Amino acid sequence: MKKIIPIILALLLCISCKKENKSEETAVAKNQSETTIERPEFAIIIHGGAGTILKKNMTPEKEAAYKAKLEEAIRVGYEVLKNGGSSLDAVTKTINIMEDSPLFNAGKGAVFTNAETNELDASIMDGKTLNAGASAGTTTVRNPIDLARAVMDNSKHVMLSGKGAEIFAEEQGLTLVEPSYFHTDRRLESLKRVKEREAQKTNKIDTESAYLDFYDADIKNAKFGTVGCAALDKNGNLAAGTSTGGMTNKRYGRVGDAPIIGSGTYANNATCAVSSTGWGEYFIRAQVAHDISALMDYKGLSLKEASKTVLDKVAELGGDGGIVAVDKNGNMVAEFNTAGMYRATMNDKGELTIGIYEQ
Ligand code: ASP
Repeated sequence: MKKIIPIILALLLCISCKKENKSEETAVAKNQSETTIERPEFAIIIHGGAGTILKKNMTPEKEAAYKAKLEEAIRVGYEVLKNGGSSLDAVTKTINIMEDSPLFNAGKGAVFTNAETNELDASIMDGKTLNAGASAGTTTVRNPIDLARAVMDNSKHVMLSGKGAEIFAEEQGLTLVEPSYFHTDRRLESLKRVKEREAQKTNKIDTESAYLDFYDADIKNAKFGTVGCAALDKNGNLAAGTSTGGMTNKRYGRVGDAPIIGSGTYANNATCAVSSTGWGEYFIRAQVAHDISALMDYKGLSLKEASKTVLDKVAELGGDGGIVAVDKNGNMVAEFNTAGMYRATMNDKGELTIGIYEQ
């Protein structure tokens, strides 16, 4: 009997040990399954520009047209991601749809410069490799996001501009068009209105005041409408891209934030993918897209917190606009400090949201 007691005790100890281990395993398994449930397989978010987009200025037809185009665009990216395609392809193809639509200030329908030309900017970034491509001030490349992608994939450079960018586009076999392809009457009317408004100003004799007139608070809101996309694919790779005609009445070869990596576009698999829209000069100065990623990286902020913090900084400087972004866990954020922003999201369940006015 004396011999049996220690054996029984040892057995009991062993059983309780196993129980503890099992509950630990269950906790791990639970956490894992929770993470898997929370993190969607893929996600995609787009914007079609931020600005003074007010319901009172919209007709039901116009609103329906914007919603239909946003849906068409995001569904293209959704299909790419659903079929296991890359976030880079989803971003490029989604932006193509919006570039080809005269509704948005990108590709066909881009805003006019002061000289009545259309000069386009675009950029794209791969969150996996931190590789990036951008083009600025092109007038003959039908889909500037394709050019940005070609710069990233097939050149040693990150940003090409003007004539050189167009020569490269031709070498790459991209579709070139006559500059008049981008022309729309609606945008020309906007330019005329802005110029009329400018002409009413009395103090635009020297360059500096003319520059200030360009940023007159009353007229700047006629200028937004950029397009952008951020996506997470099934392999956990993030990508973002942005394409724009810039701001109405821009001059002197002005380049905005859209083609600037870190301002208009940023993607990093460690944090998030971001595409910006708004008053470009402020987005450049605030380094919006990279700063959101940096706040997540260095300070551990959530995507939402980081986006709000950076847009508050833009507002403090005197600018406005918005961003769309997705983080490495598939959380999507559309944040803006303007009256509205055209936007849409889709998750891996095929659930679609579309927004235009305030959140
Ligand atoms: N950010 C663009 C620019 O300044 C304009 C826009 O987003 O609408 O060129």
